[in-house]
Amino acid sequence: MNDLEKTDILSLDLTELENILTEHGEKKFRARQIFQWLHVKKVFDFDKMTDISAQLREYLNGNFCINRLFIQKRLESSIDNTVKYLYRLPDGNYIETVLMKYNYGYSICVSTQVGCKMGCRFCASAIAGFVRNLLPSEILLQIYETEKNSGVKVSGVVLMGIGEPLDNYGNVMKFLSLISDKNGNNFSLRHVSLSTCGIVPRIYELAELKTGLTLSVSLHCADNKGRSEIMPVNRKYSIETLLEACRYYIKTTGRRITFEYAVIENVNSSSDDADRLADLLKGINCHVNLIPVNKVRERNYRTARTGVTAFAERLGRRGINATVRRTLGSDIEAACGQLRRDVAEQDRNGGADF
Ligand code: SAH
Repeated sequence: MNDLEKTDILSLDLTELENILTEHGEKKFRARQIFQWLHVKKVFDFDKMTDISAQLREYLNGNFCINRLFIQKRLESSIDNTVKYLYRLPDGNYIETVLMKYNYGYSICVSTQVGCKMGCRFCASAIAGFVRNLLPSEILLQIYETEKNSGVKVSGVVLMGIGEPLDNYGNVMKFLSLISDKNGNNFSLRHVSLSTCGIVPRIYELAELKTGLTLSVSLHCADNKGRSEIMPVNRKYSIETLLEACRYYIKTTGRRITFEYAVIENVNSSSDDADRLADLLKGINCHVNLIPVNKVRERNYRTARTGVTAFAERLGRRGINATVRRTLGSDIEAACGQLRRDVAEQDRNGGADF
């Protein structure tokens, strides 16, 4: 059996592993031991699991694979210590992960898909196109491999890399349960943020799960015509439908929502835009995160820093809580999708140059 035919053990939760092993005639507690080797000690070699019998290790080697990610490129910002990893997946695709240092610790931005289907005009991931969903193990390993490589323990996880997390709902939910399992990595979902462009039915489903995570909604425009132009998902789920789901999410989970708004000159940055946004969000328990738009080579979008500050102040005067997001890693193209797009282009042109 080659690795691709074997069961991807890092995508299995403890119950699934227990079921497989007991069916094979093993004691249930063996599953917990293996789960701890993988998710607590981060040992990715069955032969190094010293309290597992040689016979069981042989069975594991023959039937399971432990997926890994390979560092294809690692860029470190000379401005702010942000580190960007371009990881190669076992099937040769690439994804990006960004490690960011804040005053309180390290936060990691992970990808959920190879590419993205959503087609947001300002986003580099959309330009490179969609290939496939990431497996739970491939989302999880971005954290495990980055922690191993950098020697730091992350205290925050943001699902804001390449891809739309709610378009890979099952695998992302499985990832959340794996990362937070008390018998394993035991990471509190209170320190996880999930960012979505607004796939409304999934927001309702997520609300019911009451995971404790922070939901970020990429709004970027306060009128339907303008939003549909820059975010095609709005043609399916209008702003009103989206905000209805957000209200439901807040009511059901008791958690505040963050709205992401990339301020783009001549698109959504006028004082009228700010007033419309304030009207929309009035009475919603939320926070607005204003982002200076990251330059994407193929697009002409720009942000003036002063424009963002003025926008924030105008929202503030209207009683809307808004902050301007610090730009990290601007010298290493840390905005999602830019590195993968470049490598995909190089591959198309006859191979990458590294
Ligand atoms: N698909 C999800 C998460 C990935 S994108 C989503 O849409 O939310 C993470 C965030 O980066 C989103 O808010 C997205 O709108 C924003 N983003 C994408 N390209 C950007 C750019 N060029 N400048 C600023 N923000 C950008």
